[in-house]
Amino acid sequence: MIDDWFAPLRGLIDVAHIERTVRLLVVGGGRVGLSFIHTAIAHGVRWVRVIEPDWTESRNYASGFPEAAVGSRKIDFLREHLLRYSSRISFEGASVRLTTASMEPFLSWLPRSSHVALFLDSFEVASALARMAYRQCPCLYAAVFENGRTGEAAWSLGGQTPCLESTVRLSEKRGARGGQTALVDVLSTVNVSVRQLLGLALAGRRGFELFAPFVRPRFPLAVVVNRPGGFAETGSPDMPSGVRLVEVVDVNGRGPTCPTCAGYRP
Ligand SMILES: [Zn+2]
Repeated sequence: MIDDWFAPLRGLIDVAHIERTVRLLVVGGGRVGLSFIHTAIAHGVRWVRVIEPDWTESRNYASGFPEAAVGSRKIDFLREHLLRYSSRISFEGASVRLTTASMEPFLSWLPRSSHVALFLDSFEVASALARMAYRQCPCLYAAVFENGRTGEAAWSLGGQTPCLESTVRLSEKRGARGGQTALVDVLSTVNVSVRQLLGLALAGRRGFELFAPFVRPRFPLAVVVNRPGGFAETGSPDMPSGVRLVEVVDVNGRGPTCPTCAGYRP
């Protein structure tokens, strides 16, 4: 599950610091969320709260859930799976479908969380949750688009980046170029997300230098395309070739002024 792409960085990551300080609140334990949680735990995260309403179906065979898990709640599988990985993991889960009008237990768990990660099909709900998290803690969002060919990973940090909604709205370069038929590289989306999480977790310490491309407020959005060489525009040799970082400004080079992220300036 853990991609070798991380291997050169693993020794540089302050796992003990992450273990002590990161309290991860995840919404969405599907294909992307499950991979993300695995990778986060492999990098030291030991406090995890997950909200995921779905049951595992046979179509999930290829997405990280084993055959034995079919017919069970994803949250139950996750709990069992993670505690088997390490008994030191603090795990709580909720089998609840969040909406813009009903955000529990997200709102109850948010004050104790240090990082929020959203893996939702509904961008409307993700935006609403990210709005609540914006002033509280770093917030990640990662999704595979409906076209199944591209994905994206974005993050926000109160006062230092736009909010999630403004990030996506202002990212004119968002989306894939035409003519692609390959399935999106989900792990690339996850990898970018985890790197962003680590960058945020280590910001202010030595990690800030190592993960500067991911904690630079100019680039809170990364578009992931499964076409090696297609988007090798990051200028960073340790990034997957299918990832492009997107600067979030309007045509005049200005950042957003929405009620959530008012005060942020690029
Ligand atoms: Zn905003």
